[in-house]
Amino acid sequence: MDIAKRVKTLTPSSTLAITAKAKELKEQGYDVIGLGAGEPDFNTPEHIIEAAKEAMDQGRTKYTPTGGVVDLKKAIIHKFKNDNDLDYNLNEIIVTSGAKHALYTLFQVILDEGDDVIVPAPYWVSYPEQIKLAGGNPVFIEAKEEHDFKITIDQLQKAITDKTKAIIINSPSNPTGMMYTKEELQAIGELCLQHNLLIVSDEIYEKLIYTSEQHISIASLSNALKEQTVVINGVSKSHAMTGWRIGYAAGPETIIKAMTNLASHSTSNPTSIAQYGALAAYQSKVDPTIEMRKVFAERLDALYDLIVAIPGVTCKKPQGAFYLFPNVSEAVKLNGFDNVDDWVKSLLEKEKVAVVPGSGFGAPDNIRLSYAISKDQLEEAANRIKRFVEQHK
Ligand code: PLP
Repeated sequence: MDIAKRVKTLTPSSTLAITAKAKELKEQGYDVIGLGAGEPDFNTPEHIIEAAKEAMDQGRTKYTPTGGVVDLKKAIIHKFKNDNDLDYNLNEIIVTSGAKHALYTLFQVILDEGDDVIVPAPYWVSYPEQIKLAGGNPVFIEAKEEHDFKITIDQLQKAITDKTKAIIINSPSNPTGMMYTKEELQAIGELCLQHNLLIVSDEIYEKLIYTSEQHISIASLSNALKEQTVVINGVSKSHAMTGWRIGYAAGPETIIKAMTNLASHSTSNPTSIAQYGALAAYQSKVDPTIEMRKVFAERLDALYDLIVAIPGVTCKKPQGAFYLFPNVSEAVKLNGFDNVDDWVKSLLEKEKVAVVPGSGFGAPDNIRLSYAISKDQLEEAANRIKRFVEQHK
């Protein structure tokens, strides 16, 4: 059976591929250290698990409204007000099966064949594929390392054409951990308003910031910007709930309504039990991000120092998320490899350290290291990478 053309060209997620390879080697008995994980290594807090069990015991195991149960939507509205100073009503929120599916559904409803979406590179691996699946074209702007992996207004101005429909802003960013300042967001926002571009603001890492900078939602900068932005968020990273698959989108009613219509024919609704777990996450006074932030910040400092001490490796220190995104191009050359992908494969074979090559993120000189594993393991991994670089000169 021939597979449909639009799916045939899909690139499998490079993050999931490396995690699978590392798992395979582990199962063969190798002592593999995986730095590929895109999820916190903490357990979902107990009160959330209890709430889901209770939901099951109470028979909340049936279909829910497509866009999510009203109480959860209300809790999300409250979260937006508290955290982001944003006012939404129930018709401006859709709960989805993870933030990934919120993005997927959004691109399906806003893009017509041939529409362009501006994607700053490095980017999260799924953006370009999702845009293409919706018939759109990702238009990449290289967010240069010397500009802290952030696009400039000049670059944005040059990239906008009559075909540009939307732009993605992901701050803090996966994979770079960089954040846009309020002034930068303001300038980007103004340009988007001038050109009538929809802003897709992926704020999934908003709670994981390790500097004194505050997360700012571009939607909160003015009413006009709120009307022109769809905010994407979820509980996967903030509450260590990746497997529960609860995310959401907030934005103009017409877009949310169209997304809800589409979801009614695809997912019907996100898992009922998981929605009650997410409700408990938002209703509880317990904030798991405080502990997570502390642990991640310590690991970031430890790993960063070890990584920049490796010959041929340079790295911008990230502000948020849980990844380092070092440039290894010099080390790759030193080791006699033609490209980072081959170097990464050899690192896994020789030293049993799994890292994700930057090529999948649109940054072929870099690798992504997740620090969602213990500090001891991170130190061991950094030592192995150092040994790999030094031995292969
Ligand atoms: N956006 C970014 C930037 C991410 O890194 C991820 C997960 O890795 C997602 C969205 C999707 O998160 P979810 O688990 O809610 O689908």
